[in-house]
Amino acid sequence: MDLSRYFDYAATTPLAPEVLEAMRPWLEQVPANPHSIHAWGRAAEDAIEHAREQVARAIGAEDPCEVIFTSGASEANNWVIRAAESLAYSPFEHSSVRAPAKRRKAPILANEQFQLKSPESPVSLVSVMSVNNETGAILAPPSLAEGTQLHRDMTQQLGKLPIELTGIDFASFSSHKIYGPMGVGALYARGGWSPSPLVMGGGQEQGRRAGTVNVPGVVGFGAAAAACVATLENRAQVATQRREEILSVLSKVPDIQVLESDANVPHILSVVFLGVQGETLVVEADRAGFAVSSGSACNSRSSDPSAVLEAYGVPKDQLRSAVRISFGAHNTTESTLELGRILAQSVESLRRSQVPASF
Ligand code: PMP
Repeated sequence: MDLSRYFDYAATTPLAPEVLEAMRPWLEQVPANPHSIHAWGRAAEDAIEHAREQVARAIGAEDPCEVIFTSGASEANNWVIRAAESLAYSPFEHSSVRAPAKRRKAPILANEQFQLKSPESPVSLVSVMSVNNETGAILAPPSLAEGTQLHRDMTQQLGKLPIELTGIDFASFSSHKIYGPMGVGALYARGGWSPSPLVMGGGQEQGRRAGTVNVPGVVGFGAAAAACVATLENRAQVATQRREEILSVLSKVPDIQVLESDANVPHILSVVFLGVQGETLVVEADRAGFAVSSGSACNSRSSDPSAVLEAYGVPKDQLRSAVRISFGAHNTTESTLELGRILAQSVESLRRSQVPASF
């Protein structure tokens, strides 16, 4: 498969070669449970603590002990949401915030043009993601009453924008969005304090999260986190160029809407093609060897339209007409322009083949 045709970096990224190299010894050679006290165990523990420092540095945490490794951002999100005494959350959240919050019947914050309003009644925690995974919108939290804690799902910010943790009590991160391995992520907890454990059992991660730590995964996450800080600016410039390239083709297609807010990361582009099913376009692109998506990969098997796009103000009859194109390391000008042409042609022929409503 031609990686330059992969335009679904918001769903996951390919493993970077240097990340694989960092992981390799822990995959191939060392029989090391980092919680064992023998030399192999101690070596693995050192590797984990090194990775913790790399992640802490990448996110600007004051102390590495503020980083707790998890199985991914979904677990980190679930953990914070399920442990909060009471909470409110934004309507733009990923399903791993939305689902546990909904189960708790937590209120959704009102918003006006992406400006989130403060909670109507006092809550102990507010959860507002920093970069939306479906549209790339950069979101700001509302002003909060003294004592209200703030959780931010920063999964789509790491590697795209510098991280600033001032005023944030908890933040969620994922390795496989930054060219690291899948199945590993972290919860940042200010001051090393953490909610009561979600996963109970052994005393790993200083008793905050039970389970043998995924050594190769965590080592890969550390290497990816260190690398993503160094490549951030260049990746953003390239993503801006790709975005302009594809929009130079797509903007000629009539009746489209680019879902942009006042502030957006360039890496994620969501476009509504009126009268056409986003999923059909994903299939058409796939036929030509391109990977795009019609929203969050985590919801791609759900029959419900995107709650995020609904909160965005996309009219009901257009909710299934969005395509998400997300850019990354391997895309080229050529592949980007070709994807634009494929989408434009598909939209044109799909619209042409439709029977007018008056027939
Ligand atoms: N939050 C956001 C904003 C995401 O984009 C994702 C991945 N789709 C997650 C959470 C879940 O991350 P993970 O796959 O590591 O559980």
